Amino acid sequence: DTNDIEKNLDNNEDNPLGIKLKNEDFDRLKLIGKGSFGEVFLVKLKSNEKIYAMKILDKEKIKAYDQEEHTKSERDLMVKINCPFIVDIKYAFQDKQYLYMVTEFMQGGEMFFHLFKEKRFKNEKAKFYLVEIILAIEFLHKNNMMYRDLKPENVLLDKTGHIKITDFGLSKILSSENEKTYTICGTPQYLAPEVLSNEGYDNAVDWWSLGCLMYKMLIGIDAFKFSKDQSLSPEMYEIEILIPDYVTKEANDLIRKLLVLNPKKRLGSGPGGAEKIKNHPYFKDIDWEKAWNKELIPPFIPDIKDDLDLKYFDKGFTEENLESFSEEESSSLKTIDYKGFTYVTDSYTKDELNG
Ligand code: ATP
Ligand code: MG
Repeated sequence: DTNDIEKNLDNNEDNPLGIKLKNEDFDRLKLIGKGSFGEVFLVKLKSNEKIYAMKILDKEKIKAYDQEEHTKSERDLMVKINCPFIVDIKYAFQDKQYLYMVTEFMQGGEMFFHLFKEKRFKNEKAKFYLVEIILAIEFLHKNNMMYRDLKPENVLLDKTGHIKITDFGLSKILSSENEKTYTICGTPQYLAPEVLSNEGYDNAVDWWSLGCLMYKMLIGIDAFKFSKDQSLSPEMYEIEILIPDYVTKEANDLIRKLLVLNPKKRLGSGPGGAEKIKNHPYFKDIDWEKAWNKELIPPFIPDIKDDLDLKYFDKGFTEENLESFSEEESSSLKTIDYKGFTYVTDSYTKDELNG
């Protein structure tokens, strides 16, 4: 078994240099996040002493929940994408029990963390984040990718206060910009109603989620609330959307145009639809080219002491004892080899040579 995996790593076209990274090449410093199928750790690559985030997925759990395809496409998407507003993957590798994805560490933490603390964002602050998020989603759509998991937990701040989106576990590569798809997945509060129909849906689902996110940022509560054991149906979205008076006229209008039930009539739908959102009066003071070049000034700059400062991460994670994560060998011998999972950035050898 182990030999098979080794062989595949050697023959991997993503890894022509044959560099083998493994779990032991990293020091695990802290736990910083937890998801459905694994954990995210703050790690240090021993050879260059650089800090990264490492997402570790348990192959058995992925299999039990039938998520193999999602996991493969998560890795494939992250490797393909090169966008200033999307978290950059540096390395990917696997062993018998786990898949490892090493990404740049986003030290400002989740937007969720900040939103939770502040309850809601002032208009200009929300607008800055929305601008960078729109550029990320537009980039994905132009590259025939559907994101499907836009929410404040998946928007991360870097130490300069700019944002990047992460978590491509639910994303999908499409054959064309308006290909339809049918899988029911997403997060209830941000889920577009058409996902629940059997008629298929397209990229416009991401603009619905943007509307929900905009609502949450400006108003501090969910536009659509669900109780835990409620079963989802398209009818649940047929409610009146209430927007308080402190929300500007332009913001109010944009939220309503994004939260349109019919995806064809939703602002942003169809190929190149992001342009229509960017041209909405809410963004009239935005220079989109400057925004793309990260020349807009972030509304909040994280106050960070050093590379290991974790003040913007949940103490419930960062104070957890890492001993409890010591890996037990799996009892089952049969594990799946995720062909073509290994990935090493070109910069690895460069970094190594420069010490
Ligand atoms: P899934 O939704 O597929 O179950 P997940 O939610 O488990 O995935 P992620 O969203 O990728 O996994 O990561 C979980 C959390 O870990 C993030 O919300 C974030 O708090 C933290 N995290 C992940 N990647 C990074 C990173 N590069 N820098 C800082 N924090 C990160
Ligand atoms: Mg997530």
